[in-house]
Amino acid sequence: MKVIPASFEIQDDLDRQSLAVRIEACGRICYKSEDKIEAGSTEPFIEKILKHGHNSVTEMAVITLRIKIDSEKLAAQFFNCQPRFVQIDRHGRDELLITGSVRAYRELYREHGNVKLIKAITGYLAKKQPLFFKDIVPKRGVIPQSGVIVEKVSLAEVDELPADSLAKHRYLGVKFYTNRAVTHEIVRHRPCSYLQESQRYCRYSEDKFDSQVTFIKPMFYKEGSEDYKLWQQAMEDTEKIYLQLLETSSPQAARTVLPNSCKTEIIVYCNLLEWLHIFKLRTTPAAEPSMREVMIPLLKEFAERYPSVFGGDVV
Ligand SMILES: Cc1cc2nc3c(=O)[nH]c(=O)nc-3n(C[C@H](O)[C@H](O)[C@H](O)COP(=O)(O)OP(=O)(O)OC[C@H]3O[C@@H](n4cnc5c(N)ncnc54)[C@H](O)[C@@H]3O)c2cc1C
Repeated sequence: MKVIPASFEIQDDLDRQSLAVRIEACGRICYKSEDKIEAGSTEPFIEKILKHGHNSVTEMAVITLRIKIDSEKLAAQFFNCQPRFVQIDRHGRDELLITGSVRAYRELYREHGNVKLIKAITGYLAKKQPLFFKDIVPKRGVIPQSGVIVEKVSLAEVDELPADSLAKHRYLGVKFYTNRAVTHEIVRHRPCSYLQESQRYCRYSEDKFDSQVTFIKPMFYKEGSEDYKLWQQAMEDTEKIYLQLLETSSPQAARTVLPNSCKTEIIVYCNLLEWLHIFKLRTTPAAEPSMREVMIPLLKEFAERYPSVFGGDVV
C-alpha cells in the first residue's frame, strides 16, 4: 500500500486550452486514463461521452458570451424561459453577459430551441464548436437570427470584470487528492460540477496503480504513534482483502471493502462566488479538519489571485 498526503492543484493550465482539450483532460480522471491522451484522442472521447450520456463531463468548460439585442422583446422571451445553470448580467437595455458550460448551452437549446436569443447563441456556438453541437442542431445549421449579435468574451476580459461580475463569470477548477470522507462532503455543494476517480472502473491491482491501493495520510494521527500503527494495520488488512476479492470479482464489487481513507482524485469546477461560499463553510473551526487541511491553503492561493473577491475576511 501507498500512503500520500492530501494536496490540490488549481487547474490554470487547462484554462489556456481549448474547450475540447479541457473536457477530455477532466473526463479521463474518472477512468484514470490520462495516459491515453494523444493526438486524435479528443474527438472520439467526447463523442463517446455525449453518446453515453456521461453529461457531467461537458460541464467542465464554460464560455462567456456578450449578446447584443435590439429589442426588449428578445430579452423578455429569453428570461421567460428561466434559463438554468447559466450566469447572466444585464448591462443596460441592449447587452447581456452570459456564462455557461457546454452542457448548459446544449440543454438550453434542447429545452428552448424556439427562443430567438437561444437560437442565436446555439448558431454561434455550433459554428465555433461543432463537435459539441453536431448531434443536436440541424445539418444545415441554425438559421441566423436578426436583431441579435453574439460574441465570445475572452478569459483575459473576464478577469478584468468588476468584482461582482468577476465572481459570477470566472470559473476555476481545482483537482484535489484527498480521502473519500472529504469528497463525500465536498459534493454537497450543489452549484459546482464534479468529476471523480471511479472505484467502479479503476482496478487497483493493475500495473498503472503499482498493483496497490493508495491511502491518504490521516492528519489526526502522528506517524509512529500507537493510533497511527492501528490505522496502518487496518489499511494493510483491507488492501489484502480487496486484492483477494479482485481475483474473483469486479472492481465495483471489491470496492465495497475500501475505507474512507482511500485516496481519490476529484475535480471541483465552479465560479468564484461559489468558491467563496465553500471557503466560508469549509475553513472555519467547525469544519472537518481534513477538509480544512486543503481548503485553508487553497483559500490563500485564491486570495492572491483574486484579492477583490477573496481578499477580505473570509474566515
Ligand atoms: C460544519 C458543517 C457540518 C455539517 N454537518 C452535516 C451533517 O451532519 N449532515 C449533513 O447531511 N450535512 C452536513 N453538512 C452539510 C451542509 O448541510 C450543506 O449541505 C453543505 O455545507 C453545502 O452547503 P450549502 O447547502 O450552504 O450550499 P451549496 O450547495 O454550496 O449551495 C450554495 C448556495 O446555493 C443556494 N442553494 C442551492 N441549492 C439550494 C436549494 N435546493 N434550495 C435553496 N437554496 C439552494 C443556497 O443559497 C446556498 O447558499 C455540514 C456542513 C458543515 C459546513
